Amino acid sequence: MNRPVAQPLKVLIVGAGIGGLSAAIALRAAGHEVEIFESSRFAAELGAAIHLPPNVNGVLRRYGLKPETWGANKTEWVSVFDSQGNVISQKDVSSVEDEYHHPWQLSHRVDLHEALKMAATSPDLVGIPAKLHLSSRILSCEPQNGSIIFENGGSRAGDLVIAADGVHSTLRPLVSGENIPAFPSGGCAFRFLVPIEKVRANPLTAPLVQKSGDFQIWEGKNRRLVVYPCRSAYFLFSNNTQLNFVCLHPDTENETSSEGWNNSTTIEHVLKTFREYCESIRTVLGMADPETIKLWRLWDHHALKTWVQGPTALLGDAAHPFLPHQGQGGAQAIEDGVALGALFPLGTTSSQVPERLKLYMEARYERATMVQNFSRQMAFQTSNEDKIGGFSMDPLEFASKNFGHD
Ligand code: FAD
Repeated sequence: MNRPVAQPLKVLIVGAGIGGLSAAIALRAAGHEVEIFESSRFAAELGAAIHLPPNVNGVLRRYGLKPETWGANKTEWVSVFDSQGNVISQKDVSSVEDEYHHPWQLSHRVDLHEALKMAATSPDLVGIPAKLHLSSRILSCEPQNGSIIFENGGSRAGDLVIAADGVHSTLRPLVSGENIPAFPSGGCAFRFLVPIEKVRANPLTAPLVQKSGDFQIWEGKNRRLVVYPCRSAYFLFSNNTQLNFVCLHPDTENETSSEGWNNSTTIEHVLKTFREYCESIRTVLGMADPETIKLWRLWDHHALKTWVQGPTALLGDAAHPFLPHQGQGGAQAIEDGVALGALFPLGTTSSQVPERLKLYMEARYERATMVQNFSRQMAFQTSNEDKIGGFSMDPLEFASKNFGHD
């Protein structure tokens, strides 16, 4: 007797960021038909470095993705200094790989994004290649029907809909039923890259790049600098080429009201904000190409009551936006995507989708919420007496005062 052929699910994903693409990779590998709708055109390189901790490095490798092939750097040291360059602690973390089975790497976000995009859409890999539609902004959805609504008023329905539209998600209130936008945490960060050659060429700044894979934290009064190499030259695996800067400070001047990742600022602004730091740091900050300095507001959100409704689910920052203090934003979004791949094997029927999505939330909710809370608390962990990361009050207190949640 012939057995019926398992039918693929029609999966619609909103947002081709790190999480949306990871879900596409996992669901196409399971044998489903995936379409991704992305509002931007991906026309210009955006973003700086992003963490690939061991918890996510393992799952990337399962899909054949090896970050070192696109120039991610292995973290070998964690060094903490005060603002004047005095060593607070220095730890060799090169054995992290033995302990956790996979390396802790630092990747340029654009390189990671490109690799995920290839893996989701390439015709050469297992499963049906995902179709990526750029310049496709989704304005709304009907979560119970599994339909999404485009700017031109048209709509599409799928068996499974994934809203991976980032921290300022349009679909979050419709899926979760909670109409609470992300709120400014009170902190912001300058983000930019400096070519390592330039740093090495100046005797004052050369010590900053002496050790390979050195993840540095420079704690100051109400300031924190996070500095690490993030990009190797393609096909020259040993050469770090860029030093990534995350310059955390309070958003006291309400420096940017914009939600985006592309707000520019001046070198003078950076130097004024970090004027209390020692000369070598001021010198290296002065090496930033003014054209590339971005100023990001750090957004927070409380844990939602639900991420799923009918055949529709939230994923990544849309479900659980993080502050960056644990380097887990990208990693948790990737884990969400991989969980979907495991819970939706080929043969899952459309009528089973809502129940499976409840399992997805059950599998992911506690872990993601724990990381979300921990990232928030890490903004406070400091060797100095002052609060670091730009908060003028405890963010949990801030959140409960403003939004009445715990
Ligand atoms: P994101 O990676 O933010 O992806 C969300 C995607 O959804 C985006 O591509 C967005 O254009 C799209 N989208 C939003 N609304 C709609 C809509 N209505 N319809 C269709 N598509 C929509 N983190 C770092 O640690 N370092 C970085 O350098 C860094 N740079 C970033 C640059 C950009 C341009 C973006 C979007 C995010 C960046 N992040 C960075 C954040 C980081 O990627 C995320 O916090 C994390 O990876 C979680 O991934 P996500 O897929 O949930 O969200």
